Amino acid sequence: MHAGTKRKIILSAALLLGLAACGHPANSAAATTLAVVATTPQVADFVRNIGGADVAVTQIIKAGVDPHEYEPTPADIRAISQAKLVVKSGVGLERWLDQTIQSAGFSGPVVDSSLGVPLRKGDDETTDGDPHIWHNPRNAKIMVTDIEKGLASADPGHADAYARNLAAYAAQLDHLDADNVAAFARLPADDRKLVTNHDAFGYYVDRYHLQFVGSVIPSMDTSAELSAKQLDDLVAKIKATGAKAIFTESSLPPKTADAIARQAAVKVIGGDDALYGDSLGPAGSPGATYLGAEEHNTQVIVSALGG
Ligand SMILES: [Zn+2]
Repeated sequence: MHAGTKRKIILSAALLLGLAACGHPANSAAATTLAVVATTPQVADFVRNIGGADVAVTQIIKAGVDPHEYEPTPADIRAISQAKLVVKSGVGLERWLDQTIQSAGFSGPVVDSSLGVPLRKGDDETTDGDPHIWHNPRNAKIMVTDIEKGLASADPGHADAYARNLAAYAAQLDHLDADNVAAFARLPADDRKLVTNHDAFGYYVDRYHLQFVGSVIPSMDTSAELSAKQLDDLVAKIKATGAKAIFTESSLPPKTADAIARQAAVKVIGGDDALYGDSLGPAGSPGATYLGAEEHNTQVIVSALGG
């Protein structure tokens, strides 16, 4: 390489580094923290738990927002352009992400937290699988392990801390799983019938041996069109199976669920009891963390179906 060219390249690299540093106005005290962008509330919570004080997490999708319908903002593009690492949930949940990463000019590592998770089949062959992987705590353990690997490789200086945080959080996930098993053991098998707002709980249904009767939106996506026939079919299924309730979700409007419940003469579980299907609760609420949200879901389901 020509010496002059080389010097120019070094100079522009220094310039770029300077620009990148200026791009972090809020991070003056965070020179040693790793800037991580996480897509969903769930993976952001995982990154906060595994990263601890050594990461600064920007969460793209806010609590209570439907991830299937998400459209990225200029602020999201800016956050990704300033990140050292991007963490996604995966399995096609973030259909907007590749394009956004391109727009941001981000060329750093992207952690796909679904790597290694045994996938359920999706709605049809156009999808990679059911994206709602986090509802089985065993899958969540694989996700946080993927995240820990990503953090350690992007920031080897704090690898020991990430490994310690992973071990502590994995123990909490085991605890959650054992609590769920114990809770469902108290519910007679015949009462374990789940009707939800959309088809988001397949991994949970499989793990705790529930029966999925159907969902108001008969899809793992939330943009599916509802037909009158499908709604009639669901009412008939609820009556035939003796399912006791329809569970609405925090990130979806409950209107259609209310109408179906009236026709099928079952109760609607909503409001503060709505399940965390695709999101977590607002900051400060018990559902603001993955562990709190999943605990809430099991408590609500067992109490509604057991009563
Ligand atoms: Zn969903």
